[in-house]
Amino acid sequence: MIELYYDLHLHSALSPCGDEDMTPNNIANMAALKGLQVISLTDHNSAGNCRALAEVCKDLGLLFVPGMEWNTAEEVHVLCYFPTVEQAEAMSRFVADTLPKIKNRTDIFGPQYYMDQEDRVIKEEPFLLTTASSIDIFQAQAVCDRFGGVAVPAHVDRDSYSLFANLAFLTPDMHFGALEISLAGNEEKLKKEHAEIGNRLLLHNSDAHYLYQIAEPRYRLAVKEFSSYAVVQVLKEALVFDKER
Ligand SMILES: [Zn+2]
Ligand SMILES: [Zn+2]
Repeated sequence: MIELYYDLHLHSALSPCGDEDMTPNNIANMAALKGLQVISLTDHNSAGNCRALAEVCKDLGLLFVPGMEWNTAEEVHVLCYFPTVEQAEAMSRFVADTLPKIKNRTDIFGPQYYMDQEDRVIKEEPFLLTTASSIDIFQAQAVCDRFGGVAVPAHVDRDSYSLFANLAFLTPDMHFGALEISLAGNEEKLKKEHAEIGNRLLLHNSDAHYLYQIAEPRYRLAVKEFSSYAVVQVLKEALVFDKER
C-alpha cells in the first residue's frame, strides 16, 4: 500500500462559482507546489474540463482522478469518481440529459468555461450547471457504478446541499461506503451526531473554488498503487452493501 496526499474536490472555471483563475495549469501546478500527490476535478454536474486537467497532471507526475459533483433531485451534492476520463465524460453526458435546461445568467452566477490543456477557453456552457438532476440519491451509487465510478456524498458536515442537511439521515440502501467531510470538519462530532456513519471511510477535501483554497498536504489516502483505478477501487471497497440490513 502507498499513502498519497490528496484533495479530491476541486472546481475549475467550468463551475459558475469557480474562479476564472481555476484553469487546468493553475490547478495542477498549485496542487503540485503544495505537495499533493493525487487530485480530482469535481465541477458541478460536469466532467467537461477533466480531459485537459488529466493531460496537465500527467506532465507533472500528479495522479488525477476524473470526477464531478452531481446535484441529486434532493439538492444533495454527491462526488463521483472514475478511473478514466472517458467514463467521467460518459456519465457527464448522462447527467446533462437529467438537468433542466436553464440558461446561465453570467451576470448573476458567473461564466462556465470549457478549457484545453493550454488553458485556452474552447467554449462556454450556455446552460446553468448547478441545477438539480432528476435522479434521486437512492439511485446515485447505482448510476455511478454503471459508468465504472463510485459515488461519495459531499461535505456532509455542512448545512446546505448536503446529505445530513437536506435528508437528515444516511441509510444502508443508499450504498455509500465513503463520505466527504470538510477540511476542518470534526470526525468525532459528526459520528456522535450520526452513529449510522459507523466505520465508513471519511475523505477530507477542500471544495476549492479559488487557488488559495486548495488543500495543504495533511490527509493521506492509502491505495494499492499509483493509479486512478486504485483510488476508485479503495472508495468502492468501502461500500457497505447489505451487511447492515
Ligand atoms: Zn457542493
Ligand atoms: Zn464543490
